[in-house]
Amino acid sequence: MILVLKNACVVDPLQGIDCELMDICIDVSLGRVVPCDRIPTKGNVKIIDLEGRLTMAGGIDIHAHVAGPKINIARLMRPEDHYRTNIPAGDTYRASCGVTTQTVIRTGHRYAQLGYTLVCEAASPPLKTRHTHEELDDMPIVDKLVYILMDSTWLGLDYIVEGEIEKLAAYVSWLLKATKGYTIKLVDPGADIAWFYGNGIGLDIDDQIPEYGLTPREIIAAYCKVAQLLNLPHGVHIHTNKLGIPGNYRTLLETFRTGEASSFQDRLVMHVTHVQFSGYKGDCWYNIEPASEEIVKELEKSPHVSIDLGQVTFGNTTTMTADAPFEFVLYHLSKWKAVLHDIEAETATGIVPYTYRKSSYVNCVQWAIGLEIALMLRRDDLWRIVLSTDHPNAGPFTRYPLIISWLMSRKAREELLKKLNQRAVRKMILPSIDRELDFYDIAVITRAAPARILGLQEERGTLKPGAIADVAVYDIKPRELDPSKEPDKVRKALSRAWLLIKSGHVVVKEGKIVQEISGETLYVDAKVREDLYKEVVNEIKKKFKTYYSVTYKSFYIKSYEIHKLKNITVVSKIT
Ligand SMILES: [Zn+2]
Repeated sequence: MILVLKNACVVDPLQGIDCELMDICIDVSLGRVVPCDRIPTKGNVKIIDLEGRLTMAGGIDIHAHVAGPKINIARLMRPEDHYRTNIPAGDTYRASCGVTTQTVIRTGHRYAQLGYTLVCEAASPPLKTRHTHEELDDMPIVDKLVYILMDSTWLGLDYIVEGEIEKLAAYVSWLLKATKGYTIKLVDPGADIAWFYGNGIGLDIDDQIPEYGLTPREIIAAYCKVAQLLNLPHGVHIHTNKLGIPGNYRTLLETFRTGEASSFQDRLVMHVTHVQFSGYKGDCWYNIEPASEEIVKELEKSPHVSIDLGQVTFGNTTTMTADAPFEFVLYHLSKWKAVLHDIEAETATGIVPYTYRKSSYVNCVQWAIGLEIALMLRRDDLWRIVLSTDHPNAGPFTRYPLIISWLMSRKAREELLKKLNQRAVRKMILPSIDRELDFYDIAVITRAAPARILGLQEERGTLKPGAIADVAVYDIKPRELDPSKEPDKVRKALSRAWLLIKSGHVVVKEGKIVQEISGETLYVDAKVREDLYKEVVNEIKKKFKTYYSVTYKSFYIKSYEIHKLKNITVVSKIT
């Protein structure tokens, strides 16, 4: 069957299309977009007239904590997040609940309702990734992938200490295969180990990591080199050192510079995540200020770096990160409940509920940073930034439409600025910024840029013929509506897609889930020289016997354990 979406107002930056009225044709059995000039006039053709509604490729969330042990612990910790939010099953969907610690079913539903079709789980400890995949498998509709935590993993650190970069690359190749992961994730490199030895809080990029004689900068540089050697489609995904600590913007800028030194200069080397949490000037909570200007300047001269925002929204949420030392700090600030958890030989984790308040000086400064960066960057550089809240850390992903309304409307920002802590407002650049993003810019930071940054731009983030038929239609007509004047209409329309097509199937109609299908899980298979690979696997097996509580065999996740696994094979430079 061919599905024809007539009179779509298409915004597709990867094709340079900006609000053009056109038709989109989909081969339902292939699940792909096809050229409309080859559509037969007779036969099995279904036509939906979109009457000029906003139409974009499915959204891509490049960084969210949605599955695995951390979010599961958070669910146990926060019954208050669940008991008033239960949605009973309907004819076409399963029951679900949760707001900031949602069940995986609710996560799939809400992403689909926002028009999103690919979600990247931001951090999974290798040892716990089987659990992560089990949850991702159960998440309906969306496709997914997972980043694997390697910042404090002993096996990798040993190779860095020995200066064995090729062996480190073979180890990463093996680890991505063993865990069915997509790329290297570094969280506050070395901090968990330093914390283990009694001093991990605020470990800076050039501080020594106890026992290893290494610095975080050396870990970042080594993994950046490895990502380049392996030709990973997405560079190293980095949560910086000193995250969440006043004065940390210098560490962020130094992190950018570390990637440059390791770069082969032909592609993006590193993705620095939730920069808002790393964008603070000042030396204590009382005098922190946004470092947006410094970040924008450095970013403009760092073409090897992409970022996502980690935009703060106001209200209650649940923070969770492998940066356990920082969660220990946050627990003492929030004074309620926390879980801090060590994961043998690999990493750690922390979970703390938190409320961002409009009356709080610090929270208002945090709120300004993400928006200032997005609004001050040159338009061309928006291709290196992605909208995120580091779900649920700076707020649940369901608040993306609200953030978009702030980005598109000065009026929306001004209304909120009146209600914020005025000492913080005086420190912001935001009140003086006139710029308003348009739908093209929004499609860049929610579709085109994340697809390109993940190396998936040939078939995702775009509606060109051949692409996966992930199409989001919203009940607004960009040719008739001024988002600057009517931000609420934009927010409401983007909150519930009028139509979402996933791989050719209609899954959301007028904001309601009408079909639950299973998405794919993408992982990277990076091939390295066989003799090197075998040598490293033998060394890994010995270390498993010595250090791990599980065997090598049971650690390795087999392909058949994952419902719809899709491998992306890349040939490395180590052949
Ligand atoms: Zn995160």
